[in-house]
Amino acid sequence: MIFYVLTIFPEFFYPFLEKGIVAKGIERKKLEIRIKNLRDFTKDKRRTVDDYSFGGGGMVLKPEPVFLAMDEVNKEFKNKKRVVLLTPQGEIFTQRKAEEFAREKALVLICGRYEGVDERIRETLITDEISIGDYVLAGGELPSLVVIETISRIIPGVLGKERSYEEDSFTQPFLDWPHYTRPREFRGKQVPEILLSGNHQEIKKWRLKEALKRTLQRRPDLLKEELLDKETGKILREVKRERRLG
Ligand code: SAM
Repeated sequence: MIFYVLTIFPEFFYPFLEKGIVAKGIERKKLEIRIKNLRDFTKDKRRTVDDYSFGGGGMVLKPEPVFLAMDEVNKEFKNKKRVVLLTPQGEIFTQRKAEEFAREKALVLICGRYEGVDERIRETLITDEISIGDYVLAGGELPSLVVIETISRIIPGVLGKERSYEEDSFTQPFLDWPHYTRPREFRGKQVPEILLSGNHQEIKKWRLKEALKRTLQRRPDLLKEELLDKETGKILREVKRERRLG
């Protein structure tokens, strides 16, 4: 998958291309990140990318550099592609959305700045508007990185054999279970005995039960019985019964 990023701050992205899961994906040739510096698509000496908002207010990202950068992207990747504007006014980004985007061959991410982007960019170039939450950041760079990292974990072959995203919170219709590592005892706190038992069936059941318990406690909205398999549904009813009893 190729991620194109249109930004005025390419340097924000470089550390992410060198370390961690995105770097692994690049090294394993499962993904590619092509960053377009919007200032390279300006024509004046000062490489201006913003201008005053008509009607008053702050600065706005100008249309020309974004349209010219998109022309270059379209030359490099000719097929149809999703073009995402990062905006606090967009659809909230979720694991489901990430799975949907992960099926694409290329994704263009446009990072806004200032008061946002000229409306004609949104009207003409954009297929999707994505927000990473109900708060306002100074730019679309961090949201783009959130989107890139989330999708990268899903692309087959990026995480490697030792780790799979399928057991994560939100991929399952419940939150992940608690994890422990060595030492068995830490500052008086023990690892639950069952995890040391070697009984894989019992461990699986314990994990499922703990996952359901914490989902019920923290995010009951996620627990839809019709999405659960028979065994999980049975354990959920057991958890609910135990909660009622005390
Ligand atoms: N004036 C805009 C508004 O109130 O809707 C906010 C502009 S914000 C200061 C500048 C840029 O940061 C936006 O164009 C967008 O690209 C990015 N941004 C800020 N918060 C975001 C969020 N929650 N999700 C995605 N992008 C965000």
